[in-house]
Amino acid sequence: MIWVACAALVVLAGFFVLMPLFRERSGADKELPSETEHDRLLNRKAVVYANLKDLELEYKMGRLSDADFQQLGTGYKNEASAILYRIDQIRASEGRDKTSAKASASRKSRRTESGSGQGRDLSRCPSCGAEIIPGKKFCADCGHRF
Ligand SMILES: [Zn+2]
Repeated sequence: MIWVACAALVVLAGFFVLMPLFRERSGADKELPSETEHDRLLNRKAVVYANLKDLELEYKMGRLSDADFQQLGTGYKNEASAILYRIDQIRASEGRDKTSAKASASRKSRRTESGSGQGRDLSRCPSCGAEIIPGKKFCADCGHRF
């Protein structure tokens, strides 16, 4: 009857592992920095792998049948891959955030450069600050009409 207890434990563990994933996907924890979620997932991954080791140990001790071992092991492995998938998603979105932050920072510095001149520079586009080619009616950079 030990397999009933094991199955119940796996269901419970799976519930606690996967619940925050679904909650975060729905945006309830959005104000938390992704670094924290990343760390939590790493901890959870370690727990799942520890459970997997325990399972193998129990199996070697003859406490689990082949079928139970297969079933429970598959459950843990699915959990682990769900966690790894989420960690990958977080790492990918962090990389994207860094690039877009850098791009907007350079855009911002360019804007302050062009705006820090004395008053309005007539040789520059009032819209984007790009240099105006004399005689042109439109900005070559943003298409602003002069
Ligand atoms: Zn312009």
